Amino acid sequence: MELNKRQTEILEIVKLDGPITGEQIAERLKLARATIRPDLAILTMAGFLDARPRVGYFYSGKKPTQSVSDGMIGMKVGDFQSIPVVVNENVSVYDAICQMFLEDVGTLFVVDKSSCLSGVLSRKDLLRTSIGTTELEKLPVHVIMTRMPNITYCKKQDTLIHAAKKMMDKQIDSLPVIVEKSKGLEVVGRITKTNITAAFLSLAEEHEL
Ligand code: ADP
Repeated sequence: MELNKRQTEILEIVKLDGPITGEQIAERLKLARATIRPDLAILTMAGFLDARPRVGYFYSGKKPTQSVSDGMIGMKVGDFQSIPVVVNENVSVYDAICQMFLEDVGTLFVVDKSSCLSGVLSRKDLLRTSIGTTELEKLPVHVIMTRMPNITYCKKQDTLIHAAKKMMDKQIDSLPVIVEKSKGLEVVGRITKTNITAAFLSLAEEHEL
């Protein structure tokens, strides 16, 4: 059930200061007691508030559920991101492959000597190189990576929907989460299709689907 603005305000007041009488709630909202009577009735009937005669209203502990679309809009990259796995651009393709297995990730982010984002290595980038090249230990990853400025990235405060759209539009599996610094882009996280799937599931669980 979705609450309107006034019902949400009433719930907040009771959460903070309950037990509280209807008269006191009305006073806090600068409204007449009669004006908020229907809202109090709805909140009580829906189980958000408990009312005791001569004591007042208590918060029952039941949380109002958001609509699915509000829930999706509220999902931010920063709440679902994973730890990024980063390699230096002079690391060999061989070592990058080992790193990918050790860290169990599908994408490595490449950084330059000032630790700023300079490239991306996907599974197929490494596979493609492995097929055609023998001396993988001698080949630095900066030769084969997808490089800046062609990297698609996102920020912690972006919505997950925005990040998902970028991944689908560019047909890529992950995005670095970055913070802009004067020297370049600092990699602080990683958003993958797995993170999006986890978010999708958490939304379903929240709504008991
Ligand atoms: P795979 O190549 O294993 O299918 P992706 O679909 O993620 O994995 O990558 C496809 C191509 O896009 C690769 O060449 C990779 O370097 C590049 N790529 C991956 N992620 C990004 C990104 N965030 N920005 C730009 N290019 C990327």
